Amino acid sequence: MNVNDTEVIFSILEGAGYSRTEKMEEADLVMANTCSIRDNAEQRIWGRIEVFHQLRASRPGLIVGIVGCMAERLKDKLLDTHKVDLVVGPDAYRSLPRLLEAVRPDAPQIDVLLSRDETYADITPVRTDRNGISAFISIMRGCNNVCSYCVVPYTRGAERSRDAHSIVREACDVYQKGYKEVTLLGQNVDSYLWKSETETVTFANLLERVAAIAPDLRVRFATSHPKDISDEVIYTMAAHPNICKHIHLPVQSGSSRMLALMRRKYDREWYLERVAKIREVMPDCGLTTDVIAGFCTETEQDHADTVSLMDQVGFDWAFMFAYSDRPGTLANRTMQDDVPANVKNRRLSEIIDLQNRKSLERYRSQMGKELEVLVEGPSKRDPNMLCGRASNNMMCVFPATGRSKGTYTTVKVVDCTSATLICE
Ligand code: SAH
Ligand code: SF4
Repeated sequence: MNVNDTEVIFSILEGAGYSRTEKMEEADLVMANTCSIRDNAEQRIWGRIEVFHQLRASRPGLIVGIVGCMAERLKDKLLDTHKVDLVVGPDAYRSLPRLLEAVRPDAPQIDVLLSRDETYADITPVRTDRNGISAFISIMRGCNNVCSYCVVPYTRGAERSRDAHSIVREACDVYQKGYKEVTLLGQNVDSYLWKSETETVTFANLLERVAAIAPDLRVRFATSHPKDISDEVIYTMAAHPNICKHIHLPVQSGSSRMLALMRRKYDREWYLERVAKIREVMPDCGLTTDVIAGFCTETEQDHADTVSLMDQVGFDWAFMFAYSDRPGTLANRTMQDDVPANVKNRRLSEIIDLQNRKSLERYRSQMGKELEVLVEGPSKRDPNMLCGRASNNMMCVFPATGRSKGTYTTVKVVDCTSATLICE
């Protein structure tokens, strides 16, 4: 999501006559696009700002800016203590050229207003990916859920769905430029809903429209919310070969008591039913998830419930985090971050160990299968090999003979690690 926001910012700045440099030492303006989800993401940025200041010492006049969620959340500290020149929140990127004109050493500029309707629908992002094969397209902004641990609704504002026509136009545009895959992005794509006087477009409708652009344009999406992912979406995925069979479905916890405290609005049984439905309709669908260890009041039994759910579902991959108390969230205001750090970390290690074993199992289950992959380019580890993802999102590596980037090829799985399929 932040990568896509950065691409929007590049587009806005290019429109105002700025151009991009790969070398920070050459820049007249440096900005960090920031995330506030967990405390450690923010901590890294404070260090980064110091690096920018050192650069400014040898390059007077350099403008230092912070954009994104930290700008929204920590504007005063950024301006007063850390002396940045520019602080711009996620809904205010259009004002960047105007603010940059006004920046002076003694006059930092700030715009952190959140908006009810900004979706940057008319802005064509400047793609920053290196391979020219796979593009991110933002379909909505903000979030209307109030998961009690999460800062996103406060830093990125209310949910807004982007004009469906502008999304389809952007996907057509990248396809014409040679891209072969688009990933539709939102905090909760299942609640995408765009209405005009004549049309109502749901997420399933949008998927269909994007899938109809071309049979060789793959469609991916993230993130799905277990409470909202509908049968309609599942059947739409199944009906279109070019909609990739992979769902990122963050569970957060396997304990219904924790899920209620987290305000996720589903319980363990509901989650398992959704997984069963997905697997009934698409037996080969890849499933990945997010898990938080050590949320407020989490007991050993709650933790055991998470372990057993992960064991039962067998995710291909998971992003796992220790709970990080975020100022201003419901949990921060009404609950105690009472699981000691050593307990959180032990539980996190346990789920990481389990997931590593499960990933290996899942990847092994692909042995002998023939999979269609979209060739992305040389493998990072071995330039004599190519790499590309299968529909289920598993990374495959295979010999480079005669295949070129951006084409589809069928490979046979002959070996694996817990994160890569080795293929012929
Ligand atoms: N909208 C997506 C997730 C967005 S944030 C969803 O609802 O699933 C990405 C992930 O960061 C979350 O799924 C959660 O696992 C993690 N996360 C969010 N807030 C956190 C916090 N305070 N501490 C630890 N992890 C957190
Ligand atoms: Fe945060 Fe919940 Fe919204 Fe995801 S759905 S962004 S976790 S509030």
